[in-house]
Amino acid sequence: MSFKSLELAQPIQRAIEEEGYTEPTPIQAQAIPVVLSGKDLLAAAQTGTGKTAAFTLPMLQKLFRHKPNGKRRIRALVLTPTRELAAQVHASVKTYGRHLGLRSVEIYGGVSIYPQTKALRSGVDIVVATPGRLLDHLNQGHLDLSHVETLVLDEADRMLDMGFIHDIRKIIASLPHHRQTLLFSATFSNEIKRLSKTILHEPEMIAVAADNTTAERVKQTVHPVDRAKKADLLSYLIGTNNWQQVLVFTRTKHGADKLSKRLAQDGLPSTSIHGNKTQAARMKALKAFKDGRVRVLVATDVAARGIDIDRLGQVVNFDLPEVAEDYVHRIGRTGRAGNAGEAFSLVCIDEKHLLHRIEKLTDSRIEKVLVEGYHPDPSIKAEPVKKRGGNRRRKSTGGFGGGERGASRPQRGGNFKRRDRA
Ligand code: AMP
Repeated sequence: MSFKSLELAQPIQRAIEEEGYTEPTPIQAQAIPVVLSGKDLLAAAQTGTGKTAAFTLPMLQKLFRHKPNGKRRIRALVLTPTRELAAQVHASVKTYGRHLGLRSVEIYGGVSIYPQTKALRSGVDIVVATPGRLLDHLNQGHLDLSHVETLVLDEADRMLDMGFIHDIRKIIASLPHHRQTLLFSATFSNEIKRLSKTILHEPEMIAVAADNTTAERVKQTVHPVDRAKKADLLSYLIGTNNWQQVLVFTRTKHGADKLSKRLAQDGLPSTSIHGNKTQAARMKALKAFKDGRVRVLVATDVAARGIDIDRLGQVVNFDLPEVAEDYVHRIGRTGRAGNAGEAFSLVCIDEKHLLHRIEKLTDSRIEKVLVEGYHPDPSIKAEPVKKRGGNRRRKSTGGFGGGERGASRPQRGGNFKRRDRA
């Protein structure tokens, strides 16, 4: 199928061509005609499936085709769970809409409210926002949502997980009753079904890439290793395999900072991104990673939600997540839009039960590969995994900073040739 058969306006087709897309992804092929028909939509799609363009392209088309004369009013509202995702969706809106003459703004907390207020005053067609800051603006009378024609809830399951349900309901109460609503969610939980019943009107339903199909696109490997040797093993893997852009997940914010420092000491430019960092610091870290100035981005689950990095080759689970679904979200950061990706999990004896849960959820056995010099010590007994926020320093290991060094660790750092990134 080609984009031409979707009957998008010429300036949108041009932007798509400029992006180098040749054909729509399955979610785009299915969602775009539904959105253009004006129907409500309930779509199950994860990040990496091309879902952003699936709602943005037809939304832009409708705004472009029915430009009212006179004052510019907010006619489309996209809500996202995180600031990063709002910024990314807004970047897509600008990219795909670059030849349309529409105006848009991104609204989220953690940054000054003033430029947002100024942009709203000058008039915009599209608002991409996180719920909390949008409500602030609404309560202060900075915006009028009574002309919104299209509402998009992106990663709705995440928004519910993060406790935004009341904010969402308040926002929806200020929208016209007669509107088009598009709800995108990675999962169809009972909560999502309940929400969709109250805010969608006879929706079309689309499901692509169920949780475990993402897993199928990604080559997954488990490296059994002692906790004390995880950081050494990670440096070793990055160095020997010459990975240039690796996203690493840790369970805690403290763990992310500590690991990032440790990798930097090993000569691997690294930075971290988590909820304790300011928005500006998170954006800076993400940009440095995207630009290739740092090789390793260490992130917690919340901070990494919705991050879209083109052609991310490797994802590493330094710690396995407590919630098995997060594993699927994590590895979904690689192997994007049809590209093959790799996910590695460094699993210590304490985490065996977490691995078991993941294998059960994805209904698969993940290949276990022992790395020479990093075989787990069979005399180490499992200890309970400390809950997030707790002190993860362990008596038996002294934390991952103090582990033994593998004897055969190669030189790292500037000695490796940089792989061309196409
Ligand atoms: P998303 O699921 O919206 O986060 O998109 C994942 C990635 O796929 C982004 O980097 C998009 O730029 C890319 N993408 C979206 N649509 C297409 C397409 N039709 N062909 C190739 N890449 C695409």
